[in-house]
Amino acid sequence: MLRSAIIAASRSRKCRSLVENLPLARPIVDRFVAGERVTDALAATRELTRDRLVTLDHLGEDTQERVQADAAVEAYRSLLGTLADEGLAAKAEVSVKLSALGRTLPRDGDKIALEGARAICEAAASAGTTVTVDMEDHTTVDATLSIVRELRVDFPWVGAVLQAYLRRTEGDCADLAGPGSRVRLCKGAYDEPASVAYRDRADVDASYVRCLKILMHGDGYPMVATHDPRLIAIAQDVALRAGRGREGYEHQMLFGIRADEQQRLAARGLRMRVYVPYGGEWYPYFVRRLGERPANLAFFARALVGR
Ligand code: FAD
Repeated sequence: MLRSAIIAASRSRKCRSLVENLPLARPIVDRFVAGERVTDALAATRELTRDRLVTLDHLGEDTQERVQADAAVEAYRSLLGTLADEGLAAKAEVSVKLSALGRTLPRDGDKIALEGARAICEAAASAGTTVTVDMEDHTTVDATLSIVRELRVDFPWVGAVLQAYLRRTEGDCADLAGPGSRVRLCKGAYDEPASVAYRDRADVDASYVRCLKILMHGDGYPMVATHDPRLIAIAQDVALRAGRGREGYEHQMLFGIRADEQQRLAARGLRMRVYVPYGGEWYPYFVRRLGERPANLAFFARALVGR
């Protein structure tokens, strides 16, 4: 129930303008978002890439205007140019939401998003880095995977994201476990109905483990995106049993979450990538992060009343 309310709040214009205009919210937003400007994102990337890898997300989703979609593509192209110029491209890639590139536009949305993603992939190829396409709610999975498949014809290194809470995901893992295929496995961040998704935490975790086994025993490159200590330990064990060395997969976590654990894994010589979101459109991302942990919500509420 709480999760449904939070996801509804992440889409509400009223809640958005309320939270965006609260100066007291800023320090809490800063915990999860690297900043609004590209210089903030670059500063975070320079710091993190001392011992970790990074994937940068120029925040934005559900774009309703073509001009906004084009601006998102330009923001990524410019970012990728800067990563190359600053010698950061070997350690930093980008993550992209297709809805930020216009996938939900009323006319030709899929085509516009594909063209935009292609332009971003070209810039990434020139910079010498990669792109991962984020996954949004369950209604977008087929379209997203179809665009990823098209992109992979020219850019075989494009990463896909699969969400363990969806009942279909074991099948998608099997489809995507081929040679060279980069797949990020996460639990899933949206509020999905029981008809398509496991709603019980234990069922989601069990699905995550089944998916991990498929990916680790496949021929692709698994990206284990979770902060869950139990699943992290299982991933390492499954990787070992599947004969994968440390270079054969990576861990991923979000900016500002379990940073100590990120450093600990990196210090053990494991590949550890941090997802770094930045930009002015932080509201929906921030609210999803608040909703993942009741303690975050309580902390936010206390900060707002100044205690
Ligand atoms: P949980 O069981 O939620 O958390 C395990 C532990 O991690 C918690 O006990 C807590 O200690 C810590 N933790 C987790 N979340 C928080 C938080 N918000 N604040 C403080 N502590 C926290 N989802 C998508 O649907 N599509 C995507 O494309 C996508 N990309 C992602 C990329 C990366 C790199 C990561 C790490 C996650 C991504 N997610 C994505 C989000 C993911 O689906 C989960 O919503 C999120 O990671 C929380 O799940 P968890 O696996 O960490 O497990």
